[in-house]
Amino acid sequence: MVQRLIRMRALDAARLQGRFVVLIDGSGYLVFGSRHCDDCLTQQHGVATLYMHQVLEAKLLGPAGTVFSIATEFIDNRDARSAPTEASQERVKQDCELKALRRLLAGLRAEFPQLRICLSGDGLYACGEGFQVAKDHRADYIYVFQPGRFPALWKDFQGLLRLCPDQRLEWTTPQGVRQVYRWVNDLRYTDSDGREWTFNAIHCTETKENGEESEWSWVTSLEVSRATVADVATRGGRERWREENEGFNTQKNSGLNLEHAYSHTCWAAYYFLLQIAHLLLQLVEKGSLLRHLAQEQGKRMAVELYGSLKNMAQRLLDSLRYQHWADEAFDRTATGTIQIRLDSS
Ligand SMILES: [Zn+2]
Repeated sequence: MVQRLIRMRALDAARLQGRFVVLIDGSGYLVFGSRHCDDCLTQQHGVATLYMHQVLEAKLLGPAGTVFSIATEFIDNRDARSAPTEASQERVKQDCELKALRRLLAGLRAEFPQLRICLSGDGLYACGEGFQVAKDHRADYIYVFQPGRFPALWKDFQGLLRLCPDQRLEWTTPQGVRQVYRWVNDLRYTDSDGREWTFNAIHCTETKENGEESEWSWVTSLEVSRATVADVATRGGRERWREENEGFNTQKNSGLNLEHAYSHTCWAAYYFLLQIAHLLLQLVEKGSLLRHLAQEQGKRMAVELYGSLKNMAQRLLDSLRYQHWADEAFDRTATGTIQIRLDSS
C-alpha cells in the first residue's frame, strides 16, 4: 500500500532534500503479568516481574501529518540475551534497539531498494553503529545530539560555533516562537571502534511568547546551510516528535487499541493489521474526500464532522456491518477515477 502511494507521488510533498524522512522509534507493545512465551523481555517492578514485547518502527512521514509504517522489527529477549550480564538496564535497551535497527533497515531495503531516505531518530542512534547502519543501507540521517553522550564532541561543537558566528539564522514562526539556529559543517568524530565520521551539527534555541526556552541539537548527513538549516531541523529533526503524537498515540488511543492483546499467539499478525488499519484511517481522515464534505458543512477537517477519530472508525465499521455496499463500490475501473489528495499546505 505504501509502495502504491509512493509510486502515485501522493507523498512527494513531504520529501526533504529529495528524501523521505523515516522516523525510527521504539515503543512498548504488549505487557503481561505472567510469562507468555520464551522470548518475552522481562522487567523487574519491585516484587513484580513484567513480561513484555517491544517493537521498533520505521515510519515514513507523509504530507498533512500522515505517518505510514514501512518496516517493523519486534524486540525480544533474543536481543537481550547476548548482552553482558553486568550491563545496566539502559545499556541493554540501547543494545537491543541498535541490533533491531540493523534488522529493521535490512528489511526496509529488501522492500524499498531504491527509496531515498533520511532516518530521523533520538540520541540513542547517534553513535558509531547508528552511523554505520545508515551507511550500509544507503540512508541519510538526522539524530538528536545529546551533550552527555559525547562530552568531547560537544566541546568541539561549541568551540566551532564560536569560530563561525556568521552561521546563524534567526526567525519567528507564525505561532510567535523565536528560533535561533546555529550550525557547524564537517564536524569530525572517531567512534569507539576507530571509525571516522564527518557530519553537520545544528543547534536551535527556541523562545516561546511566554518566555519559555528550550534547546535542541542534531547531527546530520544532510546538507546544512543558511538556506536549508530551518527546513532540516523542523522537518527532519523536530518532526520526529510527531511520531509520539500522531503515530503510536493514535494507535494506542483512537480505538485501534495497539496495546490490547487481541491474541496471545498471533500478536505479530495483529500488529501488522493495525498498521494497515491506521494507514486506511489516515487516508479517510486526512484525504480530500471527507475534507470536502466537511468543508461543505462548514467544518475545517473531517474529524470535526464526526467528533473524534474513534467515532469516525466506528461509523466506518457500522457502514460495513449494516449497509449493503453497491456493486459499483467494488468496480475497479469506476473507482479508479476517484483520487484522494492529501493537503500539503
Ligand atoms: Zn512473550
